[in-house]
Amino acid sequence: MSDPSSVPPPLVRAQPDEIAPGVFVIHDHRVPLVPNIGIILGEHSALVVDTGMGPANGAAVLEAARKIADGRRLILTLTHFHPEHGFGAQAFKGAAQIVYNRAQAAELAAKGPAYLDMFRGMSADVAAALDGTHLVEADDLYNGAEHRIDLGGRTVVLRTWGQAHTLADQVVWLPAERVLFTGDLAEERIFPIFPWFPPDDADIDARGWLAALDAMVEMAPAIVVPGHGSAGGKEIVQGVADYIRSVAAAVQAGDDADTITAQMQARHPDWDAPEWIGFAVRYFQDRPL
Ligand SMILES: [Zn+2]
Repeated sequence: MSDPSSVPPPLVRAQPDEIAPGVFVIHDHRVPLVPNIGIILGEHSALVVDTGMGPANGAAVLEAARKIADGRRLILTLTHFHPEHGFGAQAFKGAAQIVYNRAQAAELAAKGPAYLDMFRGMSADVAAALDGTHLVEADDLYNGAEHRIDLGGRTVVLRTWGQAHTLADQVVWLPAERVLFTGDLAEERIFPIFPWFPPDDADIDARGWLAALDAMVEMAPAIVVPGHGSAGGKEIVQGVADYIRSVAAAVQAGDDADTITAQMQARHPDWDAPEWIGFAVRYFQDRPL
């Protein structure tokens, strides 16, 4: 683990970058606990994907979205309930229509307060970012695997494969432009985040996660915006699937956590956050594929 004093505070730098016509990303700049954030424009509406953590980050993202949206109606959705992705949503309450899937809303209600406490305990900078945070409910919930939103001349698809990195991770897919926002189902040059915290949270499901990743590769996205890290192509998604399968296979073969960690770091020398390898190993020790 890195020295906490060297970790930058989890602040969103709200300078959107247009990665495709009318599709903007506020990049994470590889700052821990800052996600990639999307702003997608249609003729009459704009969809914001994730908010960053805490009211100040949420307000900065809202301000950036308002500038780009230029009077269009705002809609907010979250890729999943984790604090750095959605605990800035309060800034959008009343300013945007907030849309989640029903299972994600239930997970946020059930686990949100405990995650808020857990994150506040991580560092003074994280606690400061979360100061004044309260959890807000969605305005609209959808059932089932898919929800389409017409932004005016552009359709976006909110899609979940159910239990994976959380109980109901949701991607955002632009079928015409083949742009995919993956949330934490995929990271780029970062060891995948395995939130395996039994008994407090044991809801990650690697089989479901792999099924989602395989489905995303099949969708043949031209641009993948991962939860964290740089945007790229579908090789980002394939890389996560290959990593998860390789950790599962190494655990199955009887390798111990230190050996597997060394193997994975040797295989991916430019990936950050190696502490997540041990979480993946412990998961597969409990739940072989
Ligand atoms: Zn997450």
